[in-house]
Amino acid sequence: MKYLYVAATEEVEREALAAVTARVASEFALPVRSMELGSMEFAFDAGRRQYGSIPVLDMLLRRCPPDAGKVLAVTERDLFIPVLTFVFGQAQLGGRVGVVSFARLRQEFYGLAPNREIFLERAYKEALHETGHLFGLVHCAERKCAMSLATAVRHIDLKDDAFCAACARAWRRHPEGTQV
Ligand SMILES: [Zn+2]
Ligand SMILES: [Zn+2]
Repeated sequence: MKYLYVAATEEVEREALAAVTARVASEFALPVRSMELGSMEFAFDAGRRQYGSIPVLDMLLRRCPPDAGKVLAVTERDLFIPVLTFVFGQAQLGGRVGVVSFARLRQEFYGLAPNREIFLERAYKEALHETGHLFGLVHCAERKCAMSLATAVRHIDLKDDAFCAACARAWRRHPEGTQV
């Protein structure tokens, strides 16, 4: 049995983590396990004051449990890749490991009043997006689809917390997509 692991770094808000884990489990209809990752400091870039998502994916590959089909890590830290100012997350296309960051999903990050509902909706969408990549889904031109590319939080807010029909069919065709 291969599991979808949702892996938490130590600083992650546990209530939001549990909600995201449940959402991903129900969408992909896969058995889910939890995993603790500890500190993210190994990925800290002092020059950028952000955390490298590539070292995080490397760490996940090293720590992948034998019964893990996929591992989605969740962090509160702000992630980047060298060519971009930031990323909401990153995942291997059709691979085993991905990461999603809550850092830029809260209204507070933009100087606005906290809104729990908005934050959780964004977290669901981005967790579905990165998990979709793990199942081989590429970016979708349908703006409302969870697989549409978001480079700003307003793009996330335009998306639905779901895949479009074409993307849903695509991941069900994936060899692991039908596993229960
Ligand atoms: Zn993407
Ligand atoms: Zn789509």
